[in-house]
Amino acid sequence: MQLATVVHRRFRSDSGLEFVYAANSAAILELDPLAAAAVDAFAAPGGRDDAAWLATTADPVAAEATLHDLIDLGVIRPHGEGPAPRAGLPPMPFPISTLVLNVTNKCNLSCTYCYEYGADRLTAGSGSQGSGKARMDEHTARQSIDFLLRNSGDRPQVSVTFFGGETLLNFPAIRAATEYAVAAAAQHRKRMHFALTTNATLLTDEVIDFLTLHRFGITVSIDGVPEDHDRHRVFRSGEGSFATIAPRIRALVAKNRERKGRSIGARVTLTSGAAPVRESYAFLTGELGFDEVGFAPVTAGLGRDYALGEPGYAKLLREFADLARDYTAAALRGESHGFANLGDLLRELHQGVQKAHPCGAGLGLLGVSTEGELGLCHRFVESKDHALGTVAAGVDQAARTAFLAKAHVDQKPDCANCFARPLCAGGCYHEAHVRYGDAAHANLHYCEWIRGFTALGLDCYAQIRAGNPRFLARFETA
Ligand code: SF4
Ligand code: SF4
Repeated sequence: MQLATVVHRRFRSDSGLEFVYAANSAAILELDPLAAAAVDAFAAPGGRDDAAWLATTADPVAAEATLHDLIDLGVIRPHGEGPAPRAGLPPMPFPISTLVLNVTNKCNLSCTYCYEYGADRLTAGSGSQGSGKARMDEHTARQSIDFLLRNSGDRPQVSVTFFGGETLLNFPAIRAATEYAVAAAAQHRKRMHFALTTNATLLTDEVIDFLTLHRFGITVSIDGVPEDHDRHRVFRSGEGSFATIAPRIRALVAKNRERKGRSIGARVTLTSGAAPVRESYAFLTGELGFDEVGFAPVTAGLGRDYALGEPGYAKLLREFADLARDYTAAALRGESHGFANLGDLLRELHQGVQKAHPCGAGLGLLGVSTEGELGLCHRFVESKDHALGTVAAGVDQAARTAFLAKAHVDQKPDCANCFARPLCAGGCYHEAHVRYGDAAHANLHYCEWIRGFTALGLDCYAQIRAGNPRFLARFETA
């Protein structure tokens, strides 16, 4: 019989252990030499005849047993046989676990690449398409909490993330929503988590005290070393914001450590010409005290001088590999490392995550506009084309289900033969909307980047699994 491997990636640890990552099951299997030979043989274009292959092996009985094991594990199957059908949508309405509240549309910075002010924004702001209200009022903030608790089913734990604009421009709504949520969650016997993204310019002592008291997960938008940060993250006057935020961040980190709060993360937007990520990482963790650093390539349209372009992405992948080496070395010593992109990827690989949708948007997560309109996530809340109801009237379940059905990875034929599909599933809806005018389109412009980074993660996973498997136990909790 003609047999062939499923979509997969083969990789090995530095110490010579062999692995395969099978896209249909998202399983990472360690292969003995015979299994490795079988996978490689049946990966040939068009597959291979099993009897012909068995005849080439030194021990056909052992080889046949190995082949059956690989068939049972779903790594090899009859050539031309379609993949087993994947699960469609989960039972709807799917309970909501995270609500992202856009508490303000306004920002006190004028970052050159910001989607809020750039051509990539989905709406025109205060105009025909957007709600236009600059700040969420406290009533809408509390209504949003009620909405979350009403729509979270039997989930024991739910999260509220505050977002902007510059989120802290509307601290009164954050305070009102948080205090209300603490009391309401207790009544519903649920745990409530809070998170916030900020540019750190408005982190006063009062704000820091409040955020650390309520154990907020805090992400600061900061672009690495001062020169890189001040190139794009500027006040309206054009003056860079680094000198303003550095002492505020140090005060936040100190208070958070004193209260043993959750880790504080830096979120770096990577633009052309920025310092290598290893240098940015060392600065942000060493000089400013961040626990974690996540890097995101700028999502600006083509042709802008700070856009990365293909050579920029290739260079970035090499820089990620440099930082990944540091992460792996730390893991082999049993120590934590704050390279958040890699930590998140290793967690998903270890848990065998198999995504039908790229992210939780529209599924377990919804965004809320300043006026209480619901959207797929914070980036869609003012887009009338993606409206999903309001916190007052409830979710438009028909629109939600229709979008999720359309955005399922099985509706993206380009992704069918991609080994990164279990984790990427076509990529961010917002980017897809900006690039292709269709949020459910696969983000084919960054496949090489996604596949390159996933392959890097698999390599690191192999090194850690071979050298210090106990390190991976930390990824077994949600
Ligand atoms: S968008 Fe590209 S990288 Fe992502 S799953 Fe589809 S083909 Fe793979
Ligand atoms: S659609 Fe994009 S921006 Fe929105 S939650 Fe998903 S990945 Fe994030």
